[in-house]
Amino acid sequence: MKVTFLGTNGWYPTECGNTSCVLIESEKYYVVLDAGDGIYKLDGYVKTEKPIHLFLSHLHLDHIIGFHSIGKFRFKQELNIYGLKGTKDGLQIFRHPYTAPFSDLPFPVEIHDLQEGSHDSPFPFTCRLLLHADPCLGYRLELDDQAITYCTDTGICDSLSELAQNATLLITECSLKPGQNTCGWPHLNPKDAASIAKQANAKKLLLTHFDANFYRTLKDRSDAEAAAKEIFKNTVHAYDGLEVEF
Ligand SMILES: [Zn+2]
Ligand SMILES: [Zn+2]
Repeated sequence: MKVTFLGTNGWYPTECGNTSCVLIESEKYYVVLDAGDGIYKLDGYVKTEKPIHLFLSHLHLDHIIGFHSIGKFRFKQELNIYGLKGTKDGLQIFRHPYTAPFSDLPFPVEIHDLQEGSHDSPFPFTCRLLLHADPCLGYRLELDDQAITYCTDTGICDSLSELAQNATLLITECSLKPGQNTCGWPHLNPKDAASIAKQANAKKLLLTHFDANFYRTLKDRSDAEAAAKEIFKNTVHAYDGLEVEF
């Protein structure tokens, strides 16, 4: 299984990276996590006709703005989009006069509204509401006998700990800098993320969604990794283009 980070910034794109998008290539599926503007790189990686399943954490623009660019894709397969109840309505902003609607894309798009809880299709996964300014889902995906947890845009909460239990790979946000505790909205600093990973007995922690306004250089991200490693050794900071195989 391979995880590729296509966008690793929170809030807005900078020279450090695009906004949130992660691709997981499993044996049977392409799984995309969020549709920030980093998603424009997706067609560089989708080279077969395996089904594409895209899971949205929430509707904040740094997680969906990339839908504006997907008209360039020439996928042969359908794009399935999953998100919290209300996603189908929320994505209605992708229409004229702002952009082309999903119905005009050169491939079929199906949007699925989810209830919080466990699901069996298209593969086993669990989603839970996190702690954020607007409703936001964290996911735990069971793929190729591994558990991958993706929790972005959240403060410390029970859902995060629960989804992270014994995860092979825990991907969390890292909006705040070491020692920083708030920016008005609940978010994580590197040590918060590391503490969750340690308590949950996760195998590996990947930090992403670095707030563009706080993390001005890639060196800032290395410093975040170093701070997290004091608590949880197997921590890596993400950057656009990072590939992790396991
Ligand atoms: Zn965000
Ligand atoms: Zn958000």
